[in-house]
Amino acid sequence: MHTLGNTTPSSDYILALDLGTTGNRAFVFNADSKIVGQAYKELTQYYPQPGWLEHDPQQIWQDTCWVMQTAIGNAQIAPSAIAALGLTVQRETCLIWDKTTGKPLHRAIVWQDRRTAPLCHQLQDQGYANEIYDRTGLIIDAYFSATKLRWLLDKFTDVDLNNVLAGTIDTWVLWNLTGGIHATDHTNASRTMLMNLKTCDWDEKLLELFQIPAHILPQIQPSLGVFGVTDATLLGAEIPITAILGDQQAALFGHGCDRPGLMKCTYGTGSFLVAHTGDQIVRSHHQLISTVAWTQANLRGTLDVGYALEGSMFTSGACIQWLRDRLKLIKTAAESEAMANQVTDNGGVYFVPAFSGLGAPYWDMSARGAFFGITASVQPEHLVRAVLEAIAYQVLEVVQAINASSSTPVGRLTVDGGACENNFLMQFQADVLGIPVERPIMRDTTVQGAAFAAGLAVGFWESYEALVQQRQIERVFEPGSDAPLSNFATWQKAVKRTLAWE
Ligand code: ADP
Repeated sequence: MHTLGNTTPSSDYILALDLGTTGNRAFVFNADSKIVGQAYKELTQYYPQPGWLEHDPQQIWQDTCWVMQTAIGNAQIAPSAIAALGLTVQRETCLIWDKTTGKPLHRAIVWQDRRTAPLCHQLQDQGYANEIYDRTGLIIDAYFSATKLRWLLDKFTDVDLNNVLAGTIDTWVLWNLTGGIHATDHTNASRTMLMNLKTCDWDEKLLELFQIPAHILPQIQPSLGVFGVTDATLLGAEIPITAILGDQQAALFGHGCDRPGLMKCTYGTGSFLVAHTGDQIVRSHHQLISTVAWTQANLRGTLDVGYALEGSMFTSGACIQWLRDRLKLIKTAAESEAMANQVTDNGGVYFVPAFSGLGAPYWDMSARGAFFGITASVQPEHLVRAVLEAIAYQVLEVVQAINASSSTPVGRLTVDGGACENNFLMQFQADVLGIPVERPIMRDTTVQGAAFAAGLAVGFWESYEALVQQRQIERVFEPGSDAPLSNFATWQKAVKRTLAWE
């Protein structure tokens, strides 16, 4: 792997930041890629209207500072001993801010937010779907940033745009970390619906379509490479920022999925199945999106681009949070496993997790969540079990779409993310897929991927293969013989009834 130079002997650590949907975390890794310090802070979720979700960018920035300082403190190391910082973030979530005061003009609009569905329907009706898919690899949906940015700019029509900057969360935090560098990487840019997947640059036609002035957008840079250094007043040292990746791409990197045939599934707020497709843009024709895996400048001075196919399912672990916080059926997310195991089946209950519409493979912004099949004998345990089963059925549908798009069927699924802790879910997933599900010891693959990328980019580590080979498998869930596939057909029937609801 091409590196940017050698680190000084005193640089013994890598700092990685994972700024996720539900919380922000920082990890300090040593040269053996072991975690020596970490910190986490949950992020406030704002729901101003049904289907809307916002984050406070100032809180994201303050919590970023807190988790960095706390993780470094826990590790009991000097900030000057950190060779590089890797940054991975929730994708698509975007904001605009005043470049003089540094103040956001509005809360960030989160990827799950559906407020721009009417604009998306309008674009579909106007016949833009094929052109947008061709240019960006994406399916028109409120999920991606372009319509969110349009919404924000429409709200502030009287503001002088020469004084406004726009960006996804990586760009916002990089700008604050460095005291004013306005950049992003190709993985995050590929999720805005404004980047051309072939040229890897902002697409002029799309900027015109969405009326986004190019000067408010960040410069797009390789995912592995120098973005700048942290302002010395923040941590007491200037730490080079040498990798930026969207969270799913960071997990792909962390799992070692660097070539065709390798894929991973992350079960976090949503579930994201991502398959590397090499240096080729693969078009699925089965409602999967084509996106950037990661990029790096090579020794010839040109760009190495890895592409990926992705099935994005918007709501999975978030349903467990909903069972805990809103329905109060469980006290902790982990309790869902014991509850599901208390019943022998789902009691005829099926759940559709369409809280924010449905992503792959339906892409229906108007679908809404539902329980089906409820009778007087249904217990809370059945509801919890139905929710976990639905998370697995969603992934099964996307694996089927990947298999339909490729000549080699998926043989094994590598997993990570909060909900992969759930043994019931993982076993059920293996049963319905009919293939082994492999869970690594290190579950925070996203943050690990950001650390690997930052360390490799700066020459702190030399071999990607060696880093990947060091990773250990904690458990393999083998498929059982009694996979309840007839239930899958019933679940699909339930999904159909939730489509075009709103
Ligand atoms: P994100 O990066 O999207 O913020 P995480 O990977 O941190 O998400 O995972 C958090 C999600 O995982 C939450 O939605 C939570 O409900 C879910 N989760 C955590 N533990 C479990 C568990 N044991 N069973 C099921 N879901 C879980």
